[in-house]
Amino acid sequence: MERVRKISMSPKTDPTGRLRKLFIKSRVPLFALLVCALSVAAASTSRTNRTASSLRMQTTGSFKLRYVAVKDHGLAQIEKLIKESKLFELLIDDSNKSLKLPVDITVIFRECNGKDEDGKDEDPTNAWYNPNNHSITMCYGLIKKSEDLFKNNEKTEKDLDEAVLGSTAWTFYHEMGHALIDIYKIAHTGKEEDAADELSTYILISSGDAGEKAALDGAEDFYREASEDNDLSEEQFADVHSLSKQRFYNIICWVYGSNTEKYASLTEGADAILPQGRAGACEGEYQRIAKAWQNLLASHLKK
Ligand SMILES: [Zn+2]
Repeated sequence: MERVRKISMSPKTDPTGRLRKLFIKSRVPLFALLVCALSVAAASTSRTNRTASSLRMQTTGSFKLRYVAVKDHGLAQIEKLIKESKLFELLIDDSNKSLKLPVDITVIFRECNGKDEDGKDEDPTNAWYNPNNHSITMCYGLIKKSEDLFKNNEKTEKDLDEAVLGSTAWTFYHEMGHALIDIYKIAHTGKEEDAADELSTYILISSGDAGEKAALDGAEDFYREASEDNDLSEEQFADVHSLSKQRFYNIICWVYGSNTEKYASLTEGADAILPQGRAGACEGEYQRIAKAWQNLLASHLKK
């Protein structure tokens, strides 16, 4: 259910600068378009589909947002960024307008330094959905880690803030993916983690330029997080998550696949980062993902 398996990695720069060139292409303000991410994704679903399989479940729940004040001064700046952005108020409001929920789902931004349900130390740099109490935990430590990974590669403070918020929005929708799979009992094949990655990327792409940028921020986060020396452990190969570099290429592939003309530079020319061997399949992959999630969510939409 977590976003990442804990792997110790150090911040690194992209020596080629290719990523940077790509990721700064979209200059649309994040909030301008992200606010309607889910409602736009929902609008793609045909009305016929929506009524085709109505579920007899109570729909009185909603997403609730909760902030828990940090004690660690090192996280104060990140807490300020998240709270003052009001981004998650907007995304949650949009989600509540779009989805019929049988239960409340609480989204908690907090410092993660307690014990989990098994009595183990929480991973302070993670995010997860807990099906026992229908809560999504977003650890400020994870967001701080993103900021550290992005820090040396953004031109201005504003660019850095936008990249961190974009990547955090991607994580938020990934965890929402787990939550929706759980509460709607959504069938899926393959890894649930990959299905959650698909939903997150699909919702963001659906909202237009700013959402695409946020998906690319999420991808970049995985790229920077991935081990530079490729010294992968057996645990990582066996993990429920795909490897960070694979998650990076998946997101890049789906963004490219959503609009191969607009994102041609991802796979053609000097700045290409997506290998041709994968690129050819991306349009079909993205269409399959979009169709699948439109159908899976059809009976759970409000409008
Ligand atoms: Zn996950």
